[in-house]
Amino acid sequence: MIGVAILGATGSIGTSTLEVIARHGDRFRPVALTANRQVERLFEQCVRHRPDYAVMVERSCARRLEGLLRREGVATEVLAGEEGLVEVARLPEVDQVMAAIVGAAGLQSTLAAAEAGKRILLANKEALVMSGRIFMDTVRKSGAELLPVDSEHNAIFQCMPTQREGGLAGTGVTRILLTASGGPFRAAPREELVHVTPEQACAHPNWEMGRKISVDSATMMNKGLEVIEACWLFDAAPDQVDVVLHPQSVIHSLVQYADGSVLAQLGNPDMRTPIAHALAWPQRIDAGVAPLDLCAVGRLDFEAPDPARFPCLRLAYEAIRAGGTAPAILNAANEVAVEAFLDRRLGFMSIPEVIELTLERVGPSSADSLADILADDEAARRVALQLIAERPGQSKA
Ligand code: NAD
Ligand code: MG
Repeated sequence: MIGVAILGATGSIGTSTLEVIARHGDRFRPVALTANRQVERLFEQCVRHRPDYAVMVERSCARRLEGLLRREGVATEVLAGEEGLVEVARLPEVDQVMAAIVGAAGLQSTLAAAEAGKRILLANKEALVMSGRIFMDTVRKSGAELLPVDSEHNAIFQCMPTQREGGLAGTGVTRILLTASGGPFRAAPREELVHVTPEQACAHPNWEMGRKISVDSATMMNKGLEVIEACWLFDAAPDQVDVVLHPQSVIHSLVQYADGSVLAQLGNPDMRTPIAHALAWPQRIDAGVAPLDLCAVGRLDFEAPDPARFPCLRLAYEAIRAGGTAPAILNAANEVAVEAFLDRRLGFMSIPEVIELTLERVGPSSADSLADILADDEAARRVALQLIAERPGQSKA
């Protein structure tokens, strides 16, 4: 039996992971499930899936969960705090760690899984954006296996040659093409974007996801973070990674080779496919996803992204080219700006403005140690919060 820890079990990716695992109960066993504050949700998951451990980051929530489980007669041991996340990521009975916590909050536990040499199913792109070099070095040193779950990167992984030592150059790969749905405002004029509400931004046309990544998809910062993620995962230069808009979200990404071949991975937009692929690799298992019906899809469209309406994409390319802690600063400012937008304290088109100003004010430093990265992450959060507070006319609606 393969023991799996799901960090961020109550979220969109976590729930889909439990669904896939439950289909293959003879093969995978959920050893640990974690959540931030969603007591009822984690309680229901523990009753249904009976993990050995449950972690709640909030201590008061952990106590409540413990009470509920004891009353129900469920033996799951409850841990609390960030240290609880790290502990379950390292357990000897855990073979695979699904890293599906949203944002920088997932960094420590994902790194712990890398240090412990686990198979990491990586959904949490923010950890890699923040600490790409340290993370990849840790994976190499410990012999951990890194399998991308982000649908684009999982598609690229599937289209890449299996032997990639020595970087992209030796493999004949010339370019990585990330597809982007364009989110709910792909065709919206710039004037309209100013008035976008959190509800509109979270209504993604093709994917059902958590609120943070939904807003990132609407601003296209999600694609920007994914460009950075692709550079680290596949040892690619930023110029080797391109973005193409593809509104149907059927082609999940493509890899171009020196001989002119372009390989693509297709499927219905359902995260259970990349999750099942990463869980079972190199084998294939049923993910519960309907087969792709190309005639029903009818057509596949492509267009270039508009940099004027989606400045976040440019900011992400600039950050990865600048290097050092610039991507961590970009990520931290984005997390703060998205939270303010969801809380109606910041307009939609002010998100990239806050990020750009934060990057100007917090000059990036080298990202040689985790301490450097966390210091710039904290500085960026402080500056971004201040910028938001100072903005005229940003009152809570
Ligand atoms: P979500 O908001 O639905 O779930 C987030 C999970 O993280 C929840 O279990 C929550 O309890 C936990 N969490 C939140 N804050 C935390 C904190 N401070 N400490 C510990 N745990 C915390 O998010 P999601 O949509 O499932 O996305 C998770 C990650 O996967 C993100 O990094 C996202 O970019 C990535 N991802 C998601 C999708 C998708 O389709 N949802 C696709 C690709 C990549
Ligand atoms: Mg993606």
